Amino acid sequence: MRILVVEDDKVIGDGILQALQMQNYAVDWVEDVESALTAIMANKYEFVILDVGLPDGTGFDVLKNLRDSKNSVPVLILTAYDDVSYRVKGLDAGADDYLIKPFKLEELLARIRALRRRSMGQANPILQVGDVILDPVATKVKKGEDNVNLGPKEFAILHTLMEKCGKIVTKEQLEEGLYGWDMEIESNTIEVHIHGLRKKLGKEFIETLRHFGYRVGAGED
Ligand code: CA
Repeated sequence: MRILVVEDDKVIGDGILQALQMQNYAVDWVEDVESALTAIMANKYEFVILDVGLPDGTGFDVLKNLRDSKNSVPVLILTAYDDVSYRVKGLDAGADDYLIKPFKLEELLARIRALRRRSMGQANPILQVGDVILDPVATKVKKGEDNVNLGPKEFAILHTLMEKCGKIVTKEQLEEGLYGWDMEIESNTIEVHIHGLRKKLGKEFIETLRHFGYRVGAGED
C-alpha cells in the first residue's frame, strides 16, 4: 500500500515515515500544500495522512482538492489543535478519521489498518484465501498450520493480492504499492517476488493472467 504523508514538522514526519516503512508501506513524505497537490496528481495513493497547519495553507486545501476531483482515498487528519471545530470541519470536508497531536505511532498504525479494511469493505482484520491466512497486525502468514516466512516486499504483494481476492491486480498496481519516489524499480521485480511467493505458497496459489496481471482466490469471492 502506498501512503502520502503531508506534514511540515520534521520530527513528527520522520517518526511517521519510519513507523510506516517498518510496516512495509511505501511512503512519500511532503511538507506543504503545493507539493501534496503535485504528488496527488502524479501518483495513486491508497492512504493520505494530512497535517492541518501547513506553511502555505492548510490540510483542508488538500482535502478539498481530493474530494472535488472525486478521489475517495481514505484520509486521516493530524491536528495540533485540541479544538472540536477543526475535527468537525475535517470530517465534514471528507476526512475519514483524525488524530490529535501528540499521538502514539501504534495508534496511527492501528487507525490506518482499520480505515484500510473499511475502504475494502472488510470487517475481519485477518485475511484468508484457501488455506493461506495473512495477519496484517502481526505481519505473519500461515499456510494451513505452517508458518510461512516472507520478505517484506513479498508480504506487501501478498497482502494486496489477498485484499483484492478474486480480482485481477496489475503489475503496475503492485509496483505502486511497493515503492516511494526515491526507489528505483527494476522491471522484473514483481515477477521475482511472485516467483518467491509461489515457491512458498504453492504454484497454483497465484494465477498469472497474461497481459493483465495476477490474481488469488478466483471463484472464492
Ligand atoms: Ca504543521
